[in-house]
Amino acid sequence: MRFCCLASGSEGNCTLIESSEQGETLRILVDCGLSFSLLKRKLLNRGILPEEIHGVFITHEHSDHCKGIVPLVKFLEVPVFMTYGTYLANKEMRKNLKPIFLSPHKKVLFKGLGINPFPVPHDAREAVALTVESNSFKIGILTDVGVITKTIRDELEDVDALILEFNYDDDLLSRSKYPEGLKKRITSMYGHLSNSSAIGFTKDFLQRERKVLVAAHLSNSNNSRNYVAALLNKLCHEKKTESFIADQDNGTPWINLG
Ligand SMILES: [Zn+2]
Ligand SMILES: [Zn+2]
Repeated sequence: MRFCCLASGSEGNCTLIESSEQGETLRILVDCGLSFSLLKRKLLNRGILPEEIHGVFITHEHSDHCKGIVPLVKFLEVPVFMTYGTYLANKEMRKNLKPIFLSPHKKVLFKGLGINPFPVPHDAREAVALTVESNSFKIGILTDVGVITKTIRDELEDVDALILEFNYDDDLLSRSKYPEGLKKRITSMYGHLSNSSAIGFTKDFLQRERKVLVAAHLSNSNNSRNYVAALLNKLCHEKKTESFIADQDNGTPWINLG
């Protein structure tokens, strides 16, 4: 099983997961927040054609997670999964898509992969995060979340690899030119995860042996890649967990779980 972020941040998010078992290769996207031309280019850079994607899972209706899904389905007949709330919340998707609806906590078996959506506190209508499980490995994808709940901890208990939001540095955000209302939104229980919250969770998360941690959805204005790298290097090095930072333009390289 291997995966990569094609892009991560407020301009667009998309993660590609590939699993090869018993001679069959399956590929899914989690979120599709890139224009079709950009998606195509980023897939090709990693040796994949859009036609080789078998399904797309959308976590919520914010445009950085779903703005590319309608253009993609116009080009390619591909099953799309999302919650009913996410579908209702976006006019373009209501008009153009016939998704398969996800229920939080209800695992979907998709061609040999187990996809488990679970609810997250975020200012969207019915936002979920996901774990994706093959016979051998389990990956968690958790971004766009205000606080880490017990449900989230339980769902991520046994993942081998985690893509985790490191959205903002408290100090940079408080000093930024963002309007106060927006700052409040970002730091609220239904906003985004700060570096300090993410690192607090990471310390617990790394109590168990994990293969990979990817810091994702870093704010361009209110975070610093160097800060996040310093936080991760120290923790992950001690625990022998491989760490990456996903960025807006380059995402991550392919990350092999084995
Ligand atoms: Zn987002
Ligand atoms: Zn969001």
